[in-house]
Amino acid sequence: MRTRRTLLAAAFLCLAGGSFYLTGQPNSVKKIADGVWFREGDLKNEGHCNNIIVEMKDYLIIVDANFPNGARKALADARKLSSKPVKYVFDTHHHGDHAYGNPVWTKEGAITLAHAGVVEEMKAREPERWLQSAKDRKDVAELKLATAEPPKETFTKSPHVLTDGARRVEFHHFGWAHTKGDGFLYLPKEKILCTGDAVVNGPFNYTGDANIGNWVHVVQGALKLDVSTVLPGHGAPGGKEVLTGEALFMTELQKAVKTARSQGKKLSDIVTMKGSDPATTSIKLPDSVKNWVGDFLPAQVRDAFVEMEQGKPRGSLKL
Ligand SMILES: [Zn+2]
Repeated sequence: MRTRRTLLAAAFLCLAGGSFYLTGQPNSVKKIADGVWFREGDLKNEGHCNNIIVEMKDYLIIVDANFPNGARKALADARKLSSKPVKYVFDTHHHGDHAYGNPVWTKEGAITLAHAGVVEEMKAREPERWLQSAKDRKDVAELKLATAEPPKETFTKSPHVLTDGARRVEFHHFGWAHTKGDGFLYLPKEKILCTGDAVVNGPFNYTGDANIGNWVHVVQGALKLDVSTVLPGHGAPGGKEVLTGEALFMTELQKAVKTARSQGKKLSDIVTMKGSDPATTSIKLPDSVKNWVGDFLPAQVRDAFVEMEQGKPRGSLKL
């Protein structure tokens, strides 16, 4: 547990402090289309994810619960945009920065919704992560709960569709990439895709719970949709190139690790460790994916190596 937490904390701090990536404007709200807003999370100071606010005829849908204090910020911004109640909050996956705010939203009367894989992940990984997070974060501790609150509603058939005559909203699951429960929210008329962390715009790919070998297939599933705007879990909004870039990054990562293995290299030949955390790697990825390359690379290489060696995702060992 400590390894993952340390890695995440260190990487987020390093990433956010890096000059190579512009994080845009944390806590800003940008209109993407009529009734669709993108709220950029404050990753650097708070570890927050991005939120998306979707207006329906009589209610709002929020993409991702965020951490508890991120949930309150997103709720306050939603209230400024519309007097309609928040009916659904869609957890794109089980990670704390996307789902630990669930109790804040359900207290407001919202229904938390996710792919069934999110509940599966929480069952396997909680309460350890929640308890650790409560030690690290005041907003989690203040909720005084024994564990993470799972989503109240789940779907297994993809897409799960909500429509009210004004707007059609599709919730998709294309398989296990970043986590087993990766969910996407798609607005077909507006051609907007909200991806959670299965697609990020920047060096934010956390592979600790990932199925790296399947990741590219998940993004290929998303690419079958007609998409013009991508709203990622971390990083700035973009176009379809964010999807193709994410897929290419995963392809290049796999290719580089496969090549090293075929040359007889061991994990210790390509990744140095600092304690139990990967520290540096000799693996270099091409410039075409540099937007996605950052301080997570040593851990990504380790996770890809272990997955290939064991024939199953490193994250599945704990499931
Ligand atoms: Zn995540």
